[in-house]
Amino acid sequence: MKIKSTFTNKLLVIMVGFGVFIGIIFPFFVKLVLNLASEQVLTFKFFSMCIIAGLLVGGFNFFVFKSIFYDFLESVSTKLTAFREKLDSARREEAIECNDDECLITVKSDDPIVGNITNSFNDFIKTIQNSMKAEMITTRFLEELKQRLSVKDIADVVLDSFIAYFGGDGGCIISYDKGTFSLLKTKHAQVDFEMVDQDELYRVMEKKECMRYENLQNNPVKLNIVLGELVPDSIAFIPLRYQDQKIGVAILLAKNEFARSFSGLESKNFIQQATPFLYNSNLIRRLEELAAMDELTGSLNRRFGMKRLQEEFSRAQRFSTSFSLCLIDIDHFKTINDTFGHQAGDEVLRSVTTQMQGDLRSSDFIVRYGGEEFLLVLPGASLADSYEIMERMRRRIEAFQLQFGSYSINFTISSGICSFPSKNITEPSDMIRAADITMYKAKNSGRNRIMTTEE
Ligand code: GH3
Ligand code: MG
Ligand code: MG
Repeated sequence: MKIKSTFTNKLLVIMVGFGVFIGIIFPFFVKLVLNLASEQVLTFKFFSMCIIAGLLVGGFNFFVFKSIFYDFLESVSTKLTAFREKLDSARREEAIECNDDECLITVKSDDPIVGNITNSFNDFIKTIQNSMKAEMITTRFLEELKQRLSVKDIADVVLDSFIAYFGGDGGCIISYDKGTFSLLKTKHAQVDFEMVDQDELYRVMEKKECMRYENLQNNPVKLNIVLGELVPDSIAFIPLRYQDQKIGVAILLAKNEFARSFSGLESKNFIQQATPFLYNSNLIRRLEELAAMDELTGSLNRRFGMKRLQEEFSRAQRFSTSFSLCLIDIDHFKTINDTFGHQAGDEVLRSVTTQMQGDLRSSDFIVRYGGEEFLLVLPGASLADSYEIMERMRRRIEAFQLQFGSYSINFTISSGICSFPSKNITEPSDMIRAADITMYKAKNSGRNRIMTTEE
């Protein structure tokens, strides 16, 4: 090691050299001070004794210095080397694992200088370690975000990274869109969303500052860990904003304390990195919704509707579940157009969709299949279930009266229903064909009727 060969050798030479020098001048000094004759002190024997004494004192001083300070310096050097090796491997392997024994100095000393050096050294190492960890979380997190487009996936990555960065144990992400909050993602957390104080969420977003709570009263967010539900000691509300837009709040939970402050510049920058991704994914979701939507009625358009139907069909095949498909056609629609005009016809199309939506579950969906033809897909519904649902819709539409200018327009629908699984049905188009044939039977039997493939 360089320190050993140069610094300690030089010190040895200086200390022993100084001893020898004192040994050489000592006889002259004695002669001068004690006023002795030259033959008494300037003898070979006395010179030799003084030089040997100087050598011994110099050597002893060096030994004392080495045993007191050298050990300390050597410990600093060893820890620094160990830490540098850790840093090098951390860059390669993307992990920095350096426990206190390996990288921190444990020398105990009453000496204020040694104590100060020890504390400063340890703080310095810890700071580097923390910022390396932050840098690594940020890099990994940005890489992950770049590969994701959907809001849920992005919220998932953001939440994971926030938890890792701030040293929490769980949390959730609540999005804010068009004046409404909705729960986007939870991780190791039980969220009673009805009980979340939405005014507080709004205040956090408006203030642009993280809010920390300890032992929050009536806390609606609990940790959900292996042992069960647990009330966290620390809670933090992090505002999510993109430029001037409020996009939500992240709630982080820690069993005890968070590992990092929320107010430092580094933390704020870290949070800021996430918000453009959340914002953009929300835009993408809206674009996807628009692209999937039929403009006039707000139901799914044919292209996306067929995709959803294929997904539903595959799911029903894979899990051997049932689902129903209803083909719905407005009766005498041409006459409505001819009598009241196309705009009135458009209103009728909108009203049919609105009336149908009243009876649906969240997994059901309506597709505008053609001009005034709709598909209604009811996952999990048997032929009998869907007949009941359709019959209720038929009656509701029959009773409905559309006010259009000075006109009161009445209209009816006919529908054919086909269910999966059933004979000769191997793909979605088989279902549509069967439902179409059945629907024309309903038309031919007088319209304003619902029929199933078994009739
Ligand atoms: P049926 O009872 O046998 O179904 O008789 P119908 O008059 O409804 O016959 P058909 O299904 O052939 O009529 C469809 C009409 O729907 C023809 C077309 O002009 C009209 N149509 C298609 N798309 C639209 C639309 O977007 N708006 C309006 N107003 N009319 C449309
Ligand atoms: Mg038609
Ligand atoms: Mg029609």
